[in-house]
Amino acid sequence: MTESSDSTLSQVSVQPGLAGIQNIIAVASGKGGVGKSTVCTNLAVALSQLGLKVGLMDADIYGPSQPGMLGSADAKPDIANGQLRPVNKHGVDFISMGLLIPDDSPVIWRAPMAMKMIQQFIGSVVWGRLDYLFIDLPPGTGDVQLTLAQQASLTGAIIVTTPQQVALGVARKGLRMFEQVNVPIVGIIENMSGFTCEHCGQVTAVFKEGGGRQMAETLSVPYLGAIPLDPAIMMSGEEGTPVLTNGSETPAAKSFISIAENVKKSAESIHETLQADQPRDVKMSKEGNLLVVWPDEHESLYTPHHLRLSCVCASCIDEDTGKQLLDTGKVPLDIKITGVSPVGRYGLSVSFSDGHNTGIYTFNRLKQICECEKCTKDKKQDSFTL
Ligand code: ADP
Repeated sequence: MTESSDSTLSQVSVQPGLAGIQNIIAVASGKGGVGKSTVCTNLAVALSQLGLKVGLMDADIYGPSQPGMLGSADAKPDIANGQLRPVNKHGVDFISMGLLIPDDSPVIWRAPMAMKMIQQFIGSVVWGRLDYLFIDLPPGTGDVQLTLAQQASLTGAIIVTTPQQVALGVARKGLRMFEQVNVPIVGIIENMSGFTCEHCGQVTAVFKEGGGRQMAETLSVPYLGAIPLDPAIMMSGEEGTPVLTNGSETPAAKSFISIAENVKKSAESIHETLQADQPRDVKMSKEGNLLVVWPDEHESLYTPHHLRLSCVCASCIDEDTGKQLLDTGKVPLDIKITGVSPVGRYGLSVSFSDGHNTGIYTFNRLKQICECEKCTKDKKQDSFTL
């Protein structure tokens, strides 16, 4: 255990704008046109109707559709002192590039702005306290998705797919991307699953059915439910009146409510697991050491030299052989930590005075390399038993 007094420590904090948000969930799809934005909008409204405080960040910068779907194409967010205040519509606080930039501006001009805009959305939007923030991602698995996964402290990701094999194949790729960056999967939603006849209520499987459920079972991730292919859903998007604003008795409205309840359950379970692993506190001491306080009050103090030697990034450890590539003798004993920032909800990125800044220390890794007396003794005992 280490002695710690707040007066000698400085806090390592998450992005301030996101600090009051309980669950941050990305809504993704492998390809465009599967109804990701439609699902995201209606899901946000459904959760807000369950009495929760919900926000929506439209990060689909190449084709922002939320302003239209929420019926707020002409709304303007409040901008003061470099901070953006979201617009509220149908009980959901939302922000979109579509509110800030005319939607006839060319994509070539949008592209370089995309990452900048995302950084601003993460850092400068005043969300306040929210139970859920949904992020409508652009389709695919590119830079925007990765940046968000690492910087926005995601609780998890929802994958939207249609039931055809080809859509399922690309959705699987999206799912893998999140798993690779340690973002838990909240679940899979199958959209356009069967056409519901508005006269007789009969359901016809236009694109096959059940692919989403099957994929969830194969990959051992939660299946959140199916949404019918329904002209009323399409019209609600065109008119800017989400499905649930017209009552909760239609098949489409019922499917969104049921999915919202499943999202809530899955997110709560992820949240519990994350809480159990997440440090209670991360601070820098006056001496320049990193202090991590774990949920069980155990405190780990890491010297910069020990942390630098424990880096497992691709330039320090050979990914194939596990052999150390770092010449440990060349790491100065008085090396300093120059920066610490959270990576998602699973680790810390640390930069050092020797210029090294590619190391990500997962919370699991940090627990393994704790040098306190008790952990060192436990490790010795473990290796003896083995
Ligand atoms: P994406 O965000 O994946 O590109 P959109 O949400 O923009 O897809 O949806 C593409 C089109 O499909 C829109 O016209 C939308 O209204 C329509 N759509 C989406 N889901 C459904 C559905 N379940 N039933 C009918 N139309 C739908």
